[in-house]
Amino acid sequence: MEKEIICLGCPNGCRLCVTERGRGDIEVLGQQCDRGIDYGREEFLEPKRIVTAVVRTDSDTVPFVPVKTDKPLVMDLIPKLIEELYRRETRLPVRAGDVLLEDFADTGVRVCFTRTIARA
Ligand code: SF4
Repeated sequence: MEKEIICLGCPNGCRLCVTERGRGDIEVLGQQCDRGIDYGREEFLEPKRIVTAVVRTDSDTVPFVPVKTDKPLVMDLIPKLIEELYRRETRLPVRAGDVLLEDFADTGVRVCFTRTIARA
């Protein structure tokens, strides 16, 4: 199996060609530096993304507060996280950096508020 992946490790945006030669044997070509090898392997085997979303609050004046994962989350788990976040309601005030959700699905990923919002 072969995949073309754009490396997002820096603005160069190298076009990587990632091929699975055998079980766990991944070849990455097209990178201009070694970071592209790790990026290509991870994107091929287990792509991850930082997730941003909003969570409802108990306030009528500021009904939503933005949140973000503190590290990339495996893409397969993103719908489950979004579902969990949309089910929640948080009480104001909140501070940027406060943790809303600790260790989501045993991944070590935390969800934190990205804005400080006082109670209206
Ligand atoms: S392979 Fe290296 S130079 Fe190319 S985009 Fe990735 S980080 Fe940048």
